[in-house]
Amino acid sequence: MAEIVSDPDCLFCRMVAGEIAVDRVYEDENVLAFNDINPQAPTHVLIIPRTHIATVNDLQPDHHALAGRLYTVAARIARERGVADDGYRLVMNCNADGGQSVYHIHLHLLAGRRMQWPPG
Ligand code: 5GP
Ligand code: ZN
Repeated sequence: MAEIVSDPDCLFCRMVAGEIAVDRVYEDENVLAFNDINPQAPTHVLIIPRTHIATVNDLQPDHHALAGRLYTVAARIARERGVADDGYRLVMNCNADGGQSVYHIHLHLLAGRRMQWPPG
């Protein structure tokens, strides 16, 4: 996996560093998952890499395994929450038009209600 880089001005890096408390759902040496502070569904978990990557545009080839890991962790959490069969939505917003507000990539796991399409 890619080396872990930290940005002291990044909210999610500060969570990874333990400087800001999070409602932890899962962690391993490369990934952290926690409940969103402003949930948009009965289950709303954010899955993030420990290393700082600002946006999807900043993903590099050596992040491939890490990026895939975000998805397998999301599926694991969905199974643990009992929502895997009913279904769920995984979203990663990029930059202003994508609705990104925290510039450290994160996969949203949304579940527990029927999602709409197209998204707003
Ligand atoms: P984005 O808009 O960048 O795709 O998603 C950022 C997410 O981070 C939002 O869903 C927002 O509610 C969540 N968030 C922002 N600040 C905090 C925080 O301090 N703690 C937690 N747990 N989630 C946060
Ligand atoms: Zn960061």
